Amino acid sequence: MEFIQSLPGTEDILPKPQLVGHDLKVANIHTWQRVEAIARGLFQRAAYQEIRTPTFEQTSLFERSIGEATDVVGKEMYTFLDRSDRSCTLRPEGTAGVVRAYIQHSLYAQGGVQRLWYSGPMFRYERPQKGRQRQFHQIGVEVLGSADPRADVEVILLATDLLTALGLKNLTFYLNSVGDKHDRLHYREALVAYLTPFKADLDPDSQERLVRNPLRILDSKDEKTQGIAAEAPNILDYLGDQSRRHFDRVLQQLTDLGIDFILNPRLVRGLDYYTHTAFEILSSDLGAQATVCGGGRYDGLVEELGGPATPAVGWAIGLERLTLLLEKLNPGQASPPDLYVVSRGEQAEAQALKLAQLLRQEGLAVELDLSGSAFSKQFKRADRSGAVACLILGDEEAAQGIVQVKWLKSGQQSSVLQGDLMGDLETFKHQLAQDRLAPVS
Ligand code: ATP
Ligand code: MG
Repeated sequence: MEFIQSLPGTEDILPKPQLVGHDLKVANIHTWQRVEAIARGLFQRAAYQEIRTPTFEQTSLFERSIGEATDVVGKEMYTFLDRSDRSCTLRPEGTAGVVRAYIQHSLYAQGGVQRLWYSGPMFRYERPQKGRQRQFHQIGVEVLGSADPRADVEVILLATDLLTALGLKNLTFYLNSVGDKHDRLHYREALVAYLTPFKADLDPDSQERLVRNPLRILDSKDEKTQGIAAEAPNILDYLGDQSRRHFDRVLQQLTDLGIDFILNPRLVRGLDYYTHTAFEILSSDLGAQATVCGGGRYDGLVEELGGPATPAVGWAIGLERLTLLLEKLNPGQASPPDLYVVSRGEQAEAQALKLAQLLRQEGLAVELDLSGSAFSKQFKRADRSGAVACLILGDEEAAQGIVQVKWLKSGQQSSVLQGDLMGDLETFKHQLAQDRLAPVS
């Protein structure tokens, strides 16, 4: 029968590294779990709470928040009609859903600042390539309810701390301010006036954007367009006093904290809702898909979506790109069980199943060999499992109610009554922990 493959642009994340030479063939769960564990710890220490929102929402939520003139809404959304003809969209990013939940559940009514983080799959119909998928994953933070430049700095520090804690190098942090709505309008006029005489020389996408979304032209990947954009008016020259003050304070605080950054006045970000601070973190180890983290302030969005005027700032990190980088550093290891249980014979197998269960209930990680094959084969698997010790049950052990304990590093073996083992588990656990740390002789 014909085999049904996964869809293009989607990926499995497997429990064990699959190496082809030195390259990882398929994503490996250990790298993901490491990122998630480190991120979780970091968020907790900074008093951020996790929020989980649905993977699909009403299409209009994304149209209104991300903006109809963006690539994401214009070309990349997975939109479908459900059985009652409602237009639904698989979320292409996390912020819209978080802000919708914030409004829907009146989280603002609790007063003060809401610090939130999320993690999960996102969906965009894009051309799949390394670091660019149709189902991909983001981890992100949102701070709602503070207009203070320190909030911008706090979220930026979370991103740089996370990437540093993971051991990533060759990262560059680009920063810009896109001002407030008024500044942007002002700048947009100047930009269109500058670009219009070059219209024929722009790439086709940018020609269209000249009317719909001219700021995005600064972001074009087309070389000729980039050349033209390089001479465009600088958005930083169009910031009003308040925007300028906000941005200066962000820059000052980052400098005081020793965070290196590069000002990039052409960094405008793809989504419409950004105001003031915008930033991206790029890695020079990722080829064309270089952006690891993107974020910024979006003071207008909550109101735009029907909530009370609420300033906000956040970022999202693409986990595929992050794990690609990490796997280059360290392909990741499975965490081995404490014990591997081998058994053969009806009575022995029944006792082994029960013993494994009791030991798990007492907090030990136990792998039970289910093969029923010869002891020699089960022992080989015990060695490969990385367990500290192997428990052995044959007909004789079963008849006497004992179990052989074999320490896999030293090969030492002793027999013990099953009741005694369970009766003094603390000693056994201590021995397991000691042996796990001991060097291989
Ligand atoms: P790009 O310019 O690479 O398309 P973007 O501006 O569309 O990125 P954002 O919407 O800012 O990306 O999303 C934040 C991060 O999510 C990106 O920096 C990237 O790491 C990741 N990301 C975005 N789209 C994809 C995708 N299709 N596959 C994998 N990761 C993605
Ligand atoms: Mg994109």
